[in-house]
Amino acid sequence: RQPIIAIDGPAGAGKSTVTRQVALALNLTYLDTGAMYRAMAWLVLHSDIATEDESAIAELVSQATLEFIPPRDQQPLQVIINGENVSQAIRTPEVTALVSPISAYAAVREKLVTYQQELGKLGGIVAEGRDIGTNVFPDAEVKIFLTASVEERARRRLKDFQAQGEDNISLQQLEKDIQQRDYQDTHRTLAPLRKASDAIELNTDGLTVEEVINKIIHLVQ
Ligand code: C5P
Repeated sequence: RQPIIAIDGPAGAGKSTVTRQVALALNLTYLDTGAMYRAMAWLVLHSDIATEDESAIAELVSQATLEFIPPRDQQPLQVIINGENVSQAIRTPEVTALVSPISAYAAVREKLVTYQQELGKLGGIVAEGRDIGTNVFPDAEVKIFLTASVEERARRRLKDFQAQGEDNISLQQLEKDIQQRDYQDTHRTLAPLRKASDAIELNTDGLTVEEVINKIIHLVQ
């Protein structure tokens, strides 16, 4: 079996860029599990179901047809729900704000974890998320826990927004959003965000993307 590499950590620690590049360098499949939870939040946002209505959400999710097409080259994961490609739509601030509460629901996690484990059966993947090393692939060959200070993570997010031409968002607001998401992700009952006991913690403050990627590739080899 080809290896499984698990990369977990809080919002904005640099997981997406790093995971994608590591997958490319090692010729493994990139699995963005956050995109899957975002897809569920998008689904709820575009229904008339209240975000607190767990049983209606469970029903909605169980009836949804999901397709996650792993990217070729540097493309992001393609996310298709009920036939509609939502790969861009899952990145809006509205979806981002809703994804932590939605991803705390048991029915949502069960559906997605089963899906992820199915994709991982043959190995050969680099998966990023919050519970990959602790819950989805506890036997992963390599587990990394990526962290960075809140300030650094907010600065990176601001740069991303500015690169997309978004100027009306402040550093303070981004810090607040990140802290709120960290709190929700670490305090939920099901598979909360935490470092697996056998994961290697990598603090990326002050490191370039290349340095982080090289460290991880070195660990894998
Ligand atoms: O990584 P990303 O920012 O796209 O993740 C969005 C949200 O999805 C996280 O804040 C978390 O609430 C949820 N998530 C999760 N488990 C994962 C991946 C993401 O609960 N494995």
